[in-house]
Amino acid sequence: MRDKTLCVKRPEVSHEGFASLATPTYRASTIVFDSAEAYANRSKRGPDGYTYGLHGTPTSRTLEASITALEQGLRTVLVPSGQAAITVVFLSVLMPGDTVLIPDSAYPPVAAFCENYLKPRGISHRIYDPMIGAGIDSLIDDTVKLIWTESPGSTTMEIQDIPAIVAVAKSRGVLTGCDNTWATPLYFKPLAHDMDFSSMALTKYVGGHSDLLMGSVAVKDMTLHKKLKDTMRMIGMGVSPDDCALALRGLETMGVRLAHSGRVALNFARKIADRVAPELVLHPALPGAAGHAFFQRDFAGASGVFSLVIPSHAEAALPDLLTGAQTFSIGASWGGTHSLLAPMTITRATDAHAHPGTILRINVGLEDEDDLWADLEPIIEAIATAPAVKKAV
Ligand SMILES: *Cc1c(COP(=O)(O)O)cnc(C)c1O
Repeated sequence: MRDKTLCVKRPEVSHEGFASLATPTYRASTIVFDSAEAYANRSKRGPDGYTYGLHGTPTSRTLEASITALEQGLRTVLVPSGQAAITVVFLSVLMPGDTVLIPDSAYPPVAAFCENYLKPRGISHRIYDPMIGAGIDSLIDDTVKLIWTESPGSTTMEIQDIPAIVAVAKSRGVLTGCDNTWATPLYFKPLAHDMDFSSMALTKYVGGHSDLLMGSVAVKDMTLHKKLKDTMRMIGMGVSPDDCALALRGLETMGVRLAHSGRVALNFARKIADRVAPELVLHPALPGAAGHAFFQRDFAGASGVFSLVIPSHAEAALPDLLTGAQTFSIGASWGGTHSLLAPMTITRATDAHAHPGTILRINVGLEDEDDLWADLEPIIEAIATAPAVKKAV
């Protein structure tokens, strides 16, 4: 071989004796084949074969397999964001004329996708009260093909009665899916509750360091896996092996990060509930929280995100208090090592559980607990000092 070829072709080196605990990052667009025949038959390589970098590398397959094992599923697909994990499910199973049911507490871009993308293409949606339980039966007609759930709901934190919803869906032949981002499969396993799809924004706890965007959908049925993969192939959707390597790294510490953040968050939620009207604290592990009994029945733990309803008398003080926080940062997304405060305004399509005004979403990261509490204290004080909500002593 001449020099310019030597620059391009890589010499074989020994892998013998090399054993690393790290998953190699295999980058690829092209996959090469041993023979023209193998190339011609590449589409017959099956769901786990390698054909093109977009459709999977050993790095992405390792992440998929790790999530599949945790979700107790059969296969997992990886997509570029948590939002894409939801939309790829909807696009895979809904056809013009069909209807999807979504909870009023869903991650807000879900309703926007239904309204602005699916509806003009002839796919309908109906928004239901997240606490509907078995009452979802009354919303099902022949057009309903999918019931989406998210438990707890984004910001408002309602825990849904998943077993009741699944029982109705099964009896009516409707598919079910759950956005499991908050609990992760460490604390809740939608597929083990007989749901068809379990999605996660890996962006949050799996990535865990606020530096990657990715989503996953786990299934326990190869037909549904094929539908997801077909949709992804048609749309041209895949993930980068470098991001998969970061997600694999994040996953290794997820258990201890969740345990720590969950413990501190619950401690804060209890302390706040002692100081202000307890119904202002939206944390599923607190008695009185929406769906608390379902949380106790179905979940193995709580992660580090909860919310605080800001009563109207404290709203004016909030912006300065947030800006003055020393340890918390202000921002959306969550699940990373940095603690975050995000003031949210929630609108409701049904008359379910409305909280007019601001809800403060609190994401507890890994900083010192006392430093974090020092930021929360003046916010609690602003809420608690108003006579209207001060607890009777
Ligand atoms: C953040 C989030 C998403 C979207 O994830 P992205 O990766 O930011 O698109 C979806 N669902 C829930 C519950 C989330 O918190």
